[in-house]
Formats: sequence, C-alpha cells, structure tokens
Amino acid sequence: MASIFTHTLVAYTITKTTKNPLLTNKFLFLVIISSIIPDIDVLAFQFGIAYGDLWGHRGLTHSLFFAFIWAIVLWLLLLRLPDYRHCLLLSKTSFTAITILFLSSASHGLLDAMTNGGLGVAFFSPFDTTRYFLPWQPIQVSPIGVSAFFSSYGLRVILSELIWIGIPCAIFLSILKIKNSLKH
Ligand SMILES: [Zn+2]
Repeated sequence: MASIFTHTLVAYTITKTTKNPLLTNKFLFLVIISSIIPDIDVLAFQFGIAYGDLWGHRGLTHSLFFAFIWAIVLWLLLLRLPDYRHCLLLSKTSFTAITILFLSSASHGLLDAMTNGGLGVAFFSPFDTTRYFLPWQPIQVSPIGVSAFFSSYGLRVILSELIWIGIPCAIFLSILKIKNSLKH
C-alpha cells in the first residue's frame, strides 16, 4: 500500500477539480474515506485469507469494479440525506459526485500499483484476478501497521511519496488556485 496520507492527499486533490457548491466538506470527508476504503482488505489476513486470493489484500476491493459499485452505492445513500434529497439521480451534480467518488477509490489501486513491494493490484477483479503493477514503481511500499511506520524505513516511505505524489499534487493545486484567482 501507499500510506494513508498520500491516498488522502490524492482524494483531496481530485475533489478540488470541481466547484459544485453541493459537494461540501461532508462530501470531501466521504471522498477521503473512498480513497482509503480499499485497504479494508487487510482484515482478510485476520481471517486466514491469502494475499493472492479474490478477497486478499490488493484484490477485489482495489478493483475498478469495486470503485464503481462503491461510488454508486455511496451516492445513492447520500441522496437520502436532507442536503442532497433535492438532487436528481440523472443530473450533473450526481454525475460529478459519482465520478469523484469513483476516481478517489480507483486512485488507491493506481498508487498501490506504483509501489515497489507486495503483490500487484487486481484492477479487473472479479472478471480477471491477475495482479498488476505499473511499469514505473517509484513509491517505496508502505508498511502495514502503524508502529513500523515510525522508523527509518517509514521515513523513506514518506520521502518517496512526498517526491512522487506530494509535490505533483501541490503543483496541481497551486495551478488550480492561480487559475481560480485569475477568474475573479
Ligand atoms: Zn491498498
């Protein structure tokens, strides 16, 4: 996995590409959850499910199919809340919201596939359970568990994520900010 900080930063960056006023901080919180939720599969180790299995780590919950279903179900649930009840399912807001939720969840697998450890990501599960890495894997794989993070290895992980994800996100967010300020 890449670290929780990096998944969160990417989710935040994705959300900033829209200025739809309905997509509030509450929505941003759910986008961030969407970027972390694929790692719920680390619980599989507790149940004796092997890493390479369908439900194993980086398996089904890291797939594009999961990201799509997750985005649809989450948005359908949100549409029942007072803030969103007036939104139509077939509307620009719904399309934007589902796209952002999907991209955020899908970005998780993409970042994991850029790490240099573990098994690859089952992007096309459950239809094809092959595990994939991107051809370019500059991110130091993040340790599973918090304690291992506070070590010199953890520092190397943070540094590689900062260089390859943190700085590009910061540049992208700065450009967006400048672009928006020029409009006013
Ligand atoms: Zn992961």
